[in-house]
Amino acid sequence: MPQPRRPLIAGNWKMNGLAADGLALASDIAVRAAEAGGGLACDIALAPPATILRDVAARLAGGPVTAGGQDCHTERSGAHTGDLSAAMLKDAGASFVIVGHSERRADHDEDDDLVRAKAETALKEGLVAVICVGETDEERDAGDAVSVVISQIDGSLPAGANPKTAVVAYEPVWAIGTGRTPTLDEILEIHAAIRSHLADRFDGGEGIRILYGGSMKPSNAAEILSLGDVDGGLVGGASLKAEDFWAIIEACA
Ligand code: PEP
Repeated sequence: MPQPRRPLIAGNWKMNGLAADGLALASDIAVRAAEAGGGLACDIALAPPATILRDVAARLAGGPVTAGGQDCHTERSGAHTGDLSAAMLKDAGASFVIVGHSERRADHDEDDDLVRAKAETALKEGLVAVICVGETDEERDAGDAVSVVISQIDGSLPAGANPKTAVVAYEPVWAIGTGRTPTLDEILEIHAAIRSHLADRFDGGEGIRILYGGSMKPSNAAEILSLGDVDGGLVGGASLKAEDFWAIIEACA
């Protein structure tokens, strides 16, 4: 019997958060999660900036909320000034790492091969890889959204991806940080296409969680999260305010 997919709400803080603010935010979420106890309807994850990852992870330790990184290098160590390896993230308390975020793909010219190599190294270190895919505005307008996303899945997921090691985040590039979201039918269409592709390609692939990301907020979370193939959310802006992030978590119920 395949296991049901427990929803996951992950906050991507991006390049936001000095120590005091970041720790206060992590503490707020940790306290709410502890109070909710067994009543939590989803897994919760936070990806703070690497500078405060160790402190955030220490603050969350012993509770249900996990900490992770926003990116990693393909190598374990070496002459790569300014980069961080998956091993370093793990050493700092990470249990997952986001790879292939569209901001990394755009700002750092990351392609599918590089994203897959990063995901592979994450898996080797025992981190869950949260692998991001998503079409641009132009690709959607051209009617290519599904094919672009499926091709990114093919190029970016390591062969060893399974429900325990990998999470896919579908994040239409044009919806990130813009306040725009696809219609529910559009989200359903892409998630269903990803689901059937994962089921065909990977052992247990139907159990790999597929998150939606892109301007998710308290006012739209419940309807998006109620869609059959949506297994949670990757949340940027709304994860920076504890009340908003918590409202999204509660929308999982
Ligand atoms: C993201 O960057 O992963 C994201 C979903 O951002 P936002 O929620 O701000 O659109």
